[in-house]
Amino acid sequence: MLVEDNAELVDDVTAFFREEGYVMETAFTLQEAREKVGVYSYDLVILDLGLPDGDGLELLEDMQRDQPQVAVLILTARDALDVKVQGLEQGADDYITKPFHKAELNARVHSILRRKVAGGRQKLTFNEIALDLNEKKVTVYDQELSLTRKEYDLLLFLIYNKDRLLTKESIAEHLWGDHIDQADNFDFIYNHIKNLRRKIGQAGGHNYIRSMYGMGYKFVTE
Ligand code: CA
Repeated sequence: MLVEDNAELVDDVTAFFREEGYVMETAFTLQEAREKVGVYSYDLVILDLGLPDGDGLELLEDMQRDQPQVAVLILTARDALDVKVQGLEQGADDYITKPFHKAELNARVHSILRRKVAGGRQKLTFNEIALDLNEKKVTVYDQELSLTRKEYDLLLFLIYNKDRLLTKESIAEHLWGDHIDQADNFDFIYNHIKNLRRKIGQAGGHNYIRSMYGMGYKFVTE
């Protein structure tokens, strides 16, 4: 999620990251950001400090208390060293000063997510399945699968949460974004699951993805 009040910058950065394959959400005020953080779960929040209704550091403080697992990248026009130091001391993962190049922001986002979400790993393996987190490629018994981006993200989400029941709602929210919770039903997820199973199966892999009737899915390890 990008928390930023400059609409032009929001459009620009949002379009860029969507192009990169991320699910992006936005908040224009501290209040809106607070509401969203309270309801949805994000991997990373890019947080502008100068917001119309307050200081972004207030949100950082709330998040450190309530959900410290969410990564925070501070976005600031202020070049003052003390603000950056304060942000990092309060638990932000990194900061970037405006104006910035999107490639630079992208590199930092990528590195935070790899460090925080993947524990610094470049590769994630589970038995015969191996995910290259940089290249976003999956191999089964060393045979590369031809997955769509959604199938890749779905497999990654399932493996990160192995042996945990993932509701259809949480899968939809993670892969398609906040507004998906207004969908009438989540049958479309089944098609992605079905295709993912088929592709893993065709390469000789086991079916680890169990349907939990009426509830969701689980990547089972035994
Ligand atoms: Ca601002």
